[in-house]
Amino acid sequence: MPINILFAARPERWAQYETPLTTALSDVGLDYVLKTDLLPEDVDYIVYAPNSEVQDFTPYTRLKAVMNIWAGVEAITGNPTLTVPLTRMVDAEGLTQGMVEWVTGHVLRHHLGMDAHIVNPDHLWQSVAPPLSRERPVTILGMGVLGQACAAALTSLGFPVTGWSRSPKSLPGLANEHGKDGLRRALATAQIVVLLLPDTPETENTLNADSLALLPRGAVLINPGRGPLIDDDALIAALDTGQVGHATLDVFRVEPLPQDHPFWAHPGVTVTPHIASETRPDSAARVIAQNIRRGEDGHGFLHLVDRAAGY
Ligand code: NDP
Repeated sequence: MPINILFAARPERWAQYETPLTTALSDVGLDYVLKTDLLPEDVDYIVYAPNSEVQDFTPYTRLKAVMNIWAGVEAITGNPTLTVPLTRMVDAEGLTQGMVEWVTGHVLRHHLGMDAHIVNPDHLWQSVAPPLSRERPVTILGMGVLGQACAAALTSLGFPVTGWSRSPKSLPGLANEHGKDGLRRALATAQIVVLLLPDTPETENTLNADSLALLPRGAVLINPGRGPLIDDDALIAALDTGQVGHATLDVFRVEPLPQDHPFWAHPGVTVTPHIASETRPDSAARVIAQNIRRGEDGHGFLHLVDRAAGY
């Protein structure tokens, strides 16, 4: 009997994912039906984006797993009606590569002081050369899949990288920090801070007035993680005093960022519209198909979300 897979996401996603998923599911040798509407009681797997109409999983009585097509799971992990395994997107070829490129690009922008030359209306001959990367400490908050990949890229360019995570780690080539004291140490030396934490009750306002005050004056923030990681008001106050030199923000508490939000007009803020790294349908479809294949073969799912931890 074929396995029934429901694609539950906004309709425009179906156009992007139908062919890649069909190809990838066939390539792993599954006998399947893939549709955007199936009777709930017939569904074996849901390929899911959190803004889908499916919010109550109770009628899906034979569901084996939900495969989230995004890395972030804050909108689904707390759903009490979901009682089967939840996986999230981990895709070295697509999502991770995209994040490495975005983070490296924005770190280099600030490190090299590119803005001073790109936006130079008075044609000033500003001949101050930037320091070398080895003189520019970078701290990455969140040393999971994406944080570690970005750390590897930045380290390979010569930046001294400190990584901060929930659990202790000993990743070679980095300063490894965890816990509250570790956060203080990780911030105290950082000239550039990259946020790659998930949005959980524990990570909300990781950067607030107190923690922003720990940074060396003029430090730069780069947030492709999630909006709630930063206290917006505290950030604006820190930008206004010069404590924070610039903030490049890709993610916000409300998206799209409302037109009247002060971030849009603040000269110390660069807004990018949640584009740091998109899930790429071709490679993501292969990840999902291989994971369903593993489940069907009894090998256990990869990229499982720890529902208690929230990520
Ligand atoms: P992972 O789950 O692999 O890594 C999360 C990291 O955060 C881990 O190192 C974890 O610690 C750490 N962490 C979690 N809670 C805490 C805490 N309370 N204190 C300290 N550290 C903590 O996630 P990914 O790397 O795959 O993704 C990170 C986030 O990036 C996603 O959750 C999503 O929000 C965001 N994202 C944004 C995108 C964009 O386009 N802007 C695209 C993709 C992802 P430990 O290692 O100890 O578990």
